[in-house]
Amino acid sequence: MNKFNAFEMAQQQFDKVAEILNLDVPTRELLRNPLREYNFAIPVRMDDGTMKVFRGFRVQHNDSRGPGKGGIRFHPQETLDTVRALSMWMTWKCAVVDIPLGGSKGGVICDPHNLSMREQEGICRGWVRQLSKDIGPLRDVPAPDVMTNGQHMLWMLDEFETVHGAKYPGLITGKPVGMGGSLGRTEATGYGVIFTLREALKKLNIKPENTKASVQGFGNVAQYAIDLYTQLGGKVICVSCWDQEDQVSYSFKKKDGIKLRELLEITDRFGGIDKEKAKELGYEILPGDAWIEQDVEILLPCALENQITGETAKKIKDTVKVIAEGANGPTTPEADRIIESKKIFLIPDFLANAGGVTCSYFEQVQCNMNYYWEKDEVLGKLDVKMTSAFLAVYELAAKKNLYMRDAAYVISINRVAQACRERGWV
Ligand code: GLU
Repeated sequence: MNKFNAFEMAQQQFDKVAEILNLDVPTRELLRNPLREYNFAIPVRMDDGTMKVFRGFRVQHNDSRGPGKGGIRFHPQETLDTVRALSMWMTWKCAVVDIPLGGSKGGVICDPHNLSMREQEGICRGWVRQLSKDIGPLRDVPAPDVMTNGQHMLWMLDEFETVHGAKYPGLITGKPVGMGGSLGRTEATGYGVIFTLREALKKLNIKPENTKASVQGFGNVAQYAIDLYTQLGGKVICVSCWDQEDQVSYSFKKKDGIKLRELLEITDRFGGIDKEKAKELGYEILPGDAWIEQDVEILLPCALENQITGETAKKIKDTVKVIAEGANGPTTPEADRIIESKKIFLIPDFLANAGGVTCSYFEQVQCNMNYYWEKDEVLGKLDVKMTSAFLAVYELAAKKNLYMRDAAYVISINRVAQACRERGWV
């Protein structure tokens, strides 16, 4: 969400693999751009009685394999181009785990840190009213993402059902458990990252208990990734997150391993850690970038796009063996070249973090049956899906000597291009 244009980056990644696949021109044109875009105003009455107009987006990149699917972000620096990139990555994400869904993404330019719950409800309801004919269980299915959660999803669902005069639990996923949500959905993205990391470590003959990790971000994805990685025996020594008060990031380090529980007690609902309290607990407070230059075997970028750049990638230590991308688009193409030349094993974003949307798909299935599984069943099915997607990408990368990101793209683009061809779109 800064100078670097995420959409150009997503197109560059696509173009590279389109070339490898020797894709025809119409297919390239179709897939390197979204099918449809919505850019609209959301007027909201604020708590002080004034009206404020927010800007909302929904981009439907491709729905050849099924209804569009993807989250909605609330962020002060949201842009249409970022949402375009994220919708494109959703298409590849659903395709790589082979679920019958397309790619979409939404966003609103706003900062929930400065909005009351009532004002956020107004944004959610306004967003749905503007799109009430263009989203739907058989059309485009939203979900939570950066700074949105189950409560936001429920307000959106309620507005959609009010407009359409019936119940549509399949409109949206990431709903609260008991209100049509799936057990395990909150954990799914972070756990999915670690399922793929576990498989990568097996292939590299490294025992998780002999590894240390450094994490960027401390939101939903990072927290559950740390949880499962620690359960596997790994030690997280550094976490970096955004400080709302100072408007910069800091890294929190403990050489013997951070303690998830104690950090969660001093963390706000956006994943911001209280630095005074962290100091009292013995954490070293370092600059935001410090997470990337730690002597660890594993890096887990779980914050936003464009974080590992040509500049910062040079700081990665030789000890690093695996990078698993919990965030969407954290690595620029220039940084990819550095990571590849350092022979670091990369688990690309749309594979590593596909656990969230895979569990959203399970949520849809459960909604359709109106029968809900136990948590172990959900997480077991998630593990199977993530592991088989990882192995397919790994095997293709090994066979064709491809960078892992490119191998994942080959699988996804082939699947989506085939669907488009079979439908007669190209
Ligand atoms: N926002 C998540 C993602 O980027 C999940 C999307 C979904 O569940 O539809 O993958």
